[in-house]
Amino acid sequence: MEEKIYYKSTRGGQNGISASEAILKGIAEDGGLFVPSRIPKIDLKLKELASMNYRELAYYVLSKFLVDFTEEELKNCVNNAYDNKFDTEEIAPMVKVGDSYFLELFHGPTLAFKDMALSILPYLLTTSSKKQGLGKEIVILTATSGDTGKAALEGFTNIPGIKIIVFYPEEGVSEIQKMQMITHKGNNTHVIGIKGNFDDAQSGVKRIFRDEEFLKTLEENNYVFSSANSINIGRLVPQVVYYFYAYLKLYSKGEIAEDESINVVVPTGNFGNILAAYYAKEMGLPINKLICASNDNKVLYDFISTGVYDKGREFYTTISPSMDILISSNLERLLYALSGEDSKMVKELMDSLDSNGSYKINDAMRSNLKDFFGGYASEEETKKAISDLYNKDKYIMDTHTAVAYSVNERYVKVSEDNTKAVVVSTASPYKFTYAVMNSIDNKYADYNDFQLVKEMSSLLNKEEPLAIKDINKREIVHKTVCNKEDMKKAVQEYLNF
Ligand SMILES: *Cc1c(COP(=O)(O)O)cnc(C)c1O
Repeated sequence: MEEKIYYKSTRGGQNGISASEAILKGIAEDGGLFVPSRIPKIDLKLKELASMNYRELAYYVLSKFLVDFTEEELKNCVNNAYDNKFDTEEIAPMVKVGDSYFLELFHGPTLAFKDMALSILPYLLTTSSKKQGLGKEIVILTATSGDTGKAALEGFTNIPGIKIIVFYPEEGVSEIQKMQMITHKGNNTHVIGIKGNFDDAQSGVKRIFRDEEFLKTLEENNYVFSSANSINIGRLVPQVVYYFYAYLKLYSKGEIAEDESINVVVPTGNFGNILAAYYAKEMGLPINKLICASNDNKVLYDFISTGVYDKGREFYTTISPSMDILISSNLERLLYALSGEDSKMVKELMDSLDSNGSYKINDAMRSNLKDFFGGYASEEETKKAISDLYNKDKYIMDTHTAVAYSVNERYVKVSEDNTKAVVVSTASPYKFTYAVMNSIDNKYADYNDFQLVKEMSSLLNKEEPLAIKDINKREIVHKTVCNKEDMKKAVQEYLNF
């Protein structure tokens, strides 16, 4: 019999942890990330999976990873998550435009792919809390580059036993993203702007998680932290599902033959989404290339091409802000896999990142990277991709999706690989209206984001999504802004101890 799956830290400090415990903890005590002791393999033929709807497939995939959840518990989580808060019964529709396939992951309540995982995480977390007999109030502490924040707020609002605190870079998110967060209602939510960029916010949160004295005080006050960031294994696993869904859709629509390989193209920031694709491939889904698309913050492109990860570089604020990241946290999980699960090596690399701002992987690890292709798109290339596709097919991509689309076009040219590719579409164009509409026509230069929602809706001849209708007229409820050094104090003030 196969050994039961448990979770362990990428840095070797913890082992034999159950899925529910890993979900509750978020991050391992040694600062590493929880990874499954092995990647489960699919035990049904893809043909048999093809008849499942999204919820059935989600249950199937999740049950392989979260083995200490009962069937009833897991089905309950899945059914509460993937319901009519998505605007389509398909949950993650596959759209063919010309010769391209887009997996649209933005049909949830906040119009970005973060909803795919953050609509289920609260249920996984409260179920885990019950299973572990936690008996404490959970405080979700999260840093966002724009989309996570609102999706987490949406998921966790008014869930009993949970409070949520979101830090966002004050100048680093789109106007619409900002309004989505600071107008968010809910008696257990707190949103704080940071004078700094996303990496400052993320590093600040990580520091708080590792501040032992602070954690003790927290516990004395009957609170415990957890994370909604993509380092939580409870975020990662639900993302594996839609790669299966995408593949099976292509198969059932007759676009690919049985067991034919596909490429996936993923606009990447923290490396969570593409890591989920890698896990899907390891489970046995026929994925050929994993195409990792970056914007001008091309630290991952450089890493994949040279084996050197170096965050010591200029940070650019781009029109695809959810990818403006220099420290891709989930890459640690890939390093763990590439090194043959060598936690000592991973720890050395991460220590080097901490102290020198960089690390270099060895040749063996580099050769294990061969399934990945790294590319990046400049701001001009991103805008051009949006306008070209709109002019050709009247389909409007958001800026993040356009980065992926542009990188794939380049990949096809240089590789002459004609494997069918799925472009992962991570946000609705309505979230980034200014950049998107001005890519299509510079006559929109003097409009603001909110006016452009209306203009986009008339270009597409469709009602704007309810999620952002009249968002500029909503009441601002979160006004706190703090220096990046004062994040701990802000948490303390909100929790009142
Ligand atoms: C978060 C986000 C990304 C990056 O995803 P990662 O999992 O962090 O790599 C890309 N696009 C959008 C719209 C996002 O919100």
